[in-house]
Amino acid sequence: MDLYSGYINKLIDELAALPGIGNKSAQRLAFHIIGMSSARVNRLAETIRNAKEHVTFCKVCQNLTDEEICPICRNPSRDNSVIMVVENPRDLAAYERTGRYNGLYHVLHGAISPMLGVGPGDIRLKELLERLRGEEVREVIIATNSSLEGETTAMYISKLVKPTGIKVTRIASGVPVGGDLENIDEVTLLRALEGRTEL
Ligand code: ZN
Repeated sequence: MDLYSGYINKLIDELAALPGIGNKSAQRLAFHIIGMSSARVNRLAETIRNAKEHVTFCKVCQNLTDEEICPICRNPSRDNSVIMVVENPRDLAAYERTGRYNGLYHVLHGAISPMLGVGPGDIRLKELLERLRGEEVREVIIATNSSLEGETTAMYISKLVKPTGIKVTRIASGVPVGGDLENIDEVTLLRALEGRTEL
């Protein structure tokens, strides 16, 4: 039975299709949006459109940014001889929140998963290797998640990078198995970083 009008149902469906939003939350959000002033709804719609139109990938680290090179890569006080490889921008944000990592990043936008048909060519690995050729890097810290996909990706990267002579390390497994970095507290993240081991 359709409880609501087609428009509301459509809105609920769109919201429910977003990650982490179940049907109940989608309903709550939909009713909230309907109750908002037209000006606020327009601003929200415009903000979403603008973000989609202008946000692109940093040419260096592949993080999301609306400039050619992101503020982290542009920051001259960061140590550009260390690159931390993460799966997604949320993981980068998690390490940035610790405020204690001063190197650069590389965002893969995924992890290798033979089961899901995600191969090395489907994540931003080529960009990492190009970077390593061009820059004076002394250490690559692999901070992919400790899931099967994250470990597979870490091994793959290690095999590619080690022959170049650059030191390759892996964050310690203080990070729970299968745990997403973004959900882990800062103390644990720092401990994992400090306890990293050479691969
Ligand atoms: Zn960048």
